[in-house]
Amino acid sequence: MTTQPARLTVLAGPTAVGKGTVSADIRTRYPEVWLSVSMTTRAPRPGEVDGVHYHFVSPERFDEMVERGELLEWAVVHGRNRYGTPRGPVEERLAAGAPALLEIDLQGARQVRASMPDARFVFLAPPSWDELVRRLVGRGTEDEEERERRLASARVELAAEPEFDHVVVNDDVHRATDELVSLMGLPTR
Ligand code: 5GP
Repeated sequence: MTTQPARLTVLAGPTAVGKGTVSADIRTRYPEVWLSVSMTTRAPRPGEVDGVHYHFVSPERFDEMVERGELLEWAVVHGRNRYGTPRGPVEERLAAGAPALLEIDLQGARQVRASMPDARFVFLAPPSWDELVRRLVGRGTEDEEERERRLASARVELAAEPEFDHVVVNDDVHRATDELVSLMGLPTR
C-alpha cells in the first residue's frame, strides 16, 4: 500500500555512514525513485558524472544560485566545499504529485525542516561508532586531515538522531535501501 507518495523525503546521517552508497543503490535498483542532483563546488571523484552524481560548479556559479534564491538549502560540508539542493526540480516534482528524495547533510536537513516541515526526515545510522570509524578510514579517499575533519562532523551528526522521524540502520545496503523506499510509501522488490 502506498501512503502520501507526493511527499518529500530527506535522508541525512553522519559522514561515511553510507548515504552515497544508498543513493547509488537507489539509482541502480529503484530508477523510478526521483533523487535530487545536488550542486557542489568540490571536484569530481573518479567515476563521478556531472549532472548524474552532482552538478559540479564553480564557487562563482554557486554564489549566483544562492543570491537568486535558487537553492532549497545549502551548506559548507566538512568546513570545506559547498553543497546545495536546486529548488526548481524538487518543487516541480512535488507539484506534479510525485515523491522526491534528497540525500544531504544534517545542516541541510535542518534547513529543509524549517522551510518544509511536512517532509519526512530519515536518519541513516551506522550499526556502531566503531563501524563508522572503520568505514571512514577504510574508504581511503581522504587524507589524514580530511578524515579528522569528517570524524569531528560525524560525532556531532550522530547526536542529531532524535531530531528525525525515522532511523534506518545501514547494516546492509540493500536492506537499508529497501527500508527507505518502503518508508517513502513505494513498493520494494
Ligand atoms: P561527498 O563529497 O562525499 O559526495 O559528500 C559529502 C557530504 O555532502 C555528504 O554528507 C552528503 O550528504 C552531503 N551533501 C551532498 N549533497 C548535498 C546537498 O545538496 N546539500 C547538503 N546540505 N549536503 C549535501
